[in-house]
Amino acid sequence: MELTFDNRVAVVTGAGRGIGRAIAEDLAKEGVTVVCVSKSESSCGAAAEAIRAAGGKATSRAVDVSDSEAVAAAAEAILAEHKQVDILVNNAGITRDNLILRMKDEEWDTVIRTNLNSCFYWSRAFAQTMARARWGRIINISSVIGLMGNAGQANYSAAKAGIFGLTKSLAREFAKRNVTANAVAPGFIQTDMTAGLDERLKEAIVGQVPLRRLGTASDISKIVTFLASEESGYITGQTFTVDGGMVM
Ligand code: NAP
Repeated sequence: MELTFDNRVAVVTGAGRGIGRAIAEDLAKEGVTVVCVSKSESSCGAAAEAIRAAGGKATSRAVDVSDSEAVAAAAEAILAEHKQVDILVNNAGITRDNLILRMKDEEWDTVIRTNLNSCFYWSRAFAQTMARARWGRIINISSVIGLMGNAGQANYSAAKAGIFGLTKSLAREFAKRNVTANAVAPGFIQTDMTAGLDERLKEAIVGQVPLRRLGTASDISKIVTFLASEESGYITGQTFTVDGGMVM
């Protein structure tokens, strides 16, 4: 299916590596101007550079997405530079795994701020400009762990489950302005985030996946690109699980 993108501008967080980078690259291939955000300048700068080298349009901005004031300032600067933001992909995320009885406040707070609060900060910053334009797409990257829970990931699971409530509330508040909000819940995807898992654990995970493989960043970027397009306009408040059939 040919997807329609009408001179759109997208902000993709966590665009420096992994899933976010694949999303940024796929949107750029569709002609979207992409603002690549990540924590370090080298990471988002390289992503934007690669997009430009391939003939796409991209800029970069290093922002700590867990910092409310930093996000507000960056959003203002992005709007000043690009005039409009049509597509927001909240993808930046981290893990700080520990069993609940051992989990420190700092591990809990950092993950909630980075993975959940960030989605609120960026959505609040851009929802108004989307509402005014009567067109917008907000796509929040959650996880199957937000649906299932996971021993050792209470912080991550709570943040990712929180994304579902935020997404549905965004969908309800902005539907009348033609701004949609949806969540994508990836299963186990091969990126830096999962590279450290030991081989036996990976085999055990694959054993629970009906399609018998780990996912790729491209498996996720394809559905995000669709959700960012004109053609997804009648879909809002939904969660799309992309996990090889693990959760069904
Ligand atoms: P990744 O390879 O570890 O990349 C994470 C990206 O997020 C990096 O670009 C990183 O910036 C950025 N980031 C982290 N903390 C940040 C902060 N405080 N401020 C700004 N940027 C920050 O991760 P991934 O595997 O692609 O995961 C992307 C998203 O998918 C995450 O939300 C993750 O929870 C979710 N997810 C992943 C999987 C999986 O199996 N991989 C499964 C389900 C859901 P730098 O490049 O500057 O470090």
